[in-house]
Amino acid sequence: MSYCVNCGVELDASAKCCPLCSTPVWNPNRPGEAAEAKPPFPTQKELVEPVRRKDLGILLTMVTLATAGICGVLNVLVFREGSWSLVVLGACVLLWVLLEPVVIHAGQSVYLSLLYDGAAVVFLLYMITFPAGDGGWFGGLGVPLAVLVTGVAELFAFCVKKLPRSFLTVSLYFFTAAGLLCAGIELLIDRFLRGAIQLGWSAVVLTVCGILDIAFITMLSRRRLRNCVRRRLHF
Ligand SMILES: [Zn+2]
Repeated sequence: MSYCVNCGVELDASAKCCPLCSTPVWNPNRPGEAAEAKPPFPTQKELVEPVRRKDLGILLTMVTLATAGICGVLNVLVFREGSWSLVVLGACVLLWVLLEPVVIHAGQSVYLSLLYDGAAVVFLLYMITFPAGDGGWFGGLGVPLAVLVTGVAELFAFCVKKLPRSFLTVSLYFFTAAGLLCAGIELLIDRFLRGAIQLGWSAVVLTVCGILDIAFITMLSRRRLRNCVRRRLHF
């Protein structure tokens, strides 16, 4: 048994210096003992195995299935008023479809993922409107809006993937898509509510997006201007 010469704390046989005051340990009667003795704690760190994608997928599927299933049973047996579990089912399907490309099929095409997302949103909308029997809202506004958003998202994904990609060009695609989306949303709402089509607030958005787009196109077409922007924004 050794003790620290400075603070008197009891030392393990493997200690090369005092754990309290860091005074080097050297016992003249037993030189080299510290090098031979095993430390009282493990020297190697055990690596934690990363979670497998497949296991995550199973977890996601089971959780969403269980949620939808349990809510369905509760709806039938306990809280019988209305068909609220259908909305939960729609939300579970949407959640699964949204997370599926992240968790299960990492290599899935972006276009397919967006298409599935759009379909899942339509399904959720149907589940919301189906119990209420409000079919006009679903077909007249819900589906066209979902189709519009999906279409614009697909177009944006196509531009980012296939056309030149830089800070300026992606900004150009983004503001063009945002302008189109706002105009489309307003036209669809107008058509559903009033039966007439007229641009209002979205005209303002379109104007702003148009001005920004013209600025981006000018910067892209003038090499000197483009280089100035690139140097100032560091990309
Ligand atoms: Zn000490």
